[in-house]
Amino acid sequence: MEGVPRPPVRVVAPLLAGALLLCVLGIRGHVRRLEVERRASTVASAIAGRRVKVDCPGPIRRRMFYEITEGRVRFSADGVPDPETNLSGDACAGLRRVLDKGSALNLECLYWNCSKADTRAAMGLIVLTHESVHMRGVIDEGLTECEAEKRVEATALALGFTSQTAQSVAHWARTDYAELLPEQYRLCADSNAA
Ligand SMILES: [Zn+2]
Repeated sequence: MEGVPRPPVRVVAPLLAGALLLCVLGIRGHVRRLEVERRASTVASAIAGRRVKVDCPGPIRRRMFYEITEGRVRFSADGVPDPETNLSGDACAGLRRVLDKGSALNLECLYWNCSKADTRAAMGLIVLTHESVHMRGVIDEGLTECEAEKRVEATALALGFTSQTAQSVAHWARTDYAELLPEQYRLCADSNAA
């Protein structure tokens, strides 16, 4: 019986190697994402005052959905927050950088102008803190951002930053970052300026 001729080894071997590499990279990405979620959940739980979960998008969700917000917490009709937040791919990538670099990352550039990756690291910390305050039970965006501005320094320290770098993030949260936010988030930003 004549079968389909088998493709020669020199064609199959690179294909297998490629598939294996993709598989390894996929698993590595998954493990790294789980670590960000686990470390961020610990920090979020401390702020929320109860056990909460931080969710980062996987590679499929990251490509398929256009994210309009950097983070989200659902509230029930009577104003009770879910014990879970979904962060954007950007916010999670920022937190990934925070964990990777830790105390080696210097964010003095926040007083002037940072690279995209460094800006994203600071943004990730502020967004995580903001969503954690929501999970504490605060709905109003202005009040939530106000409290996040006060707590972001502790978040940065908990995830490995030096006190100096944590202060740079907190300063940025109250100033240039706050200026980029829509009006309903700016309760404290406006009183800072006054
Ligand atoms: Zn919010």
